[in-house]
Amino acid sequence: EKSLWQSCKGQKSTTKDFKDIDLAANIGSPDDIDGVIANDGDGIGLYRTEFLYMGRKSFPTEEEQYESYKTVLEKMGDKPVVVRTLDIGGDKELSYFDMPKELNPFLGNRALRLCLQNMDMFKTQLRALLRAANYGNLHIMFPMIATIEEFRKAKAVLQEVESDLETEQIPFSKNYQTGIMIEIPAAALLANVFAKEVDFFSIGTNDLIQYTFAADRMNEHVSYLYQPYNPSLLKLIQMVTEAAHKEGKWVGMCGEMAGENQALPLLIGLGLDELSMSAPSILKARYSLKQIDSIKAKGLADMALQSCTEEEVKLLIDAFWNEV
Ligand code: PEP
Ligand code: MG
Repeated sequence: EKSLWQSCKGQKSTTKDFKDIDLAANIGSPDDIDGVIANDGDGIGLYRTEFLYMGRKSFPTEEEQYESYKTVLEKMGDKPVVVRTLDIGGDKELSYFDMPKELNPFLGNRALRLCLQNMDMFKTQLRALLRAANYGNLHIMFPMIATIEEFRKAKAVLQEVESDLETEQIPFSKNYQTGIMIEIPAAALLANVFAKEVDFFSIGTNDLIQYTFAADRMNEHVSYLYQPYNPSLLKLIQMVTEAAHKEGKWVGMCGEMAGENQALPLLIGLGLDELSMSAPSILKARYSLKQIDSIKAKGLADMALQSCTEEEVKLLIDAFWNEV
């Protein structure tokens, strides 16, 4: 089987009926790029920049960040690179950054919320990103967005950073896309509003499932509520792809679900344009993708959306795979 997957190297990622789907990689550092290239990823769908900030004694400087982003963008050439702005808080802490203890850290001051309240930290990252944008196909993505005002604030900061760099005559590029993660049900429900203002979405199922089912993703006692295939979650996903496509925007998925081979026909049927996963999963996904007819996948998704339980959806998926 492995050699079958390897034979997909250098080929395009398309369904049986030639619908293009980008199979991208999740990375945490520039060191991961070699693995992405070895596995022929179509891009980077999620660069988790928090790892740049973790395991050290002080904030990474603008220069350090610039070098990391530049390396990733250069190595990926003209392939899309989605860089997520700092996502700390929740379970991720920085020893050198004093974050008050919270009763509910996953519902607290994390990710973009924290960035908007620590403007120096946020602007430093955005400056490094815009400077690196000269070297590749940059997409900036904001995590943990709940409201359109949060997105507008983040965009306004980007504008400020652009004019600062202009004033200082520091080289940078305005040639980049701006998008958001869909991790909070409120944002999925209002995807039609966001779709008019963002360039793209990426669905973070790890958090979206946690917040949809109100079940801590780390707590084993409620892990039975971690249900990627539950029709409630599928409806949220469908709302996002439908709203995005109406405005001509693209939708990716970068949570664990995107790398589940079993889920592939369902995700194609729901209209995802890009799936981002760990690099070693990419070639297998490309091989599986070739077995899937996108019209049949749409039929599967329609039936899944009519289902009542996760179990029913899983049976539909099993039946789909038995027929290919
Ligand atoms: C997600 O929430 O699905 C996601 C990709 O982000 P993280 O796992 O880093 O929270
Ligand atoms: Mg997340």
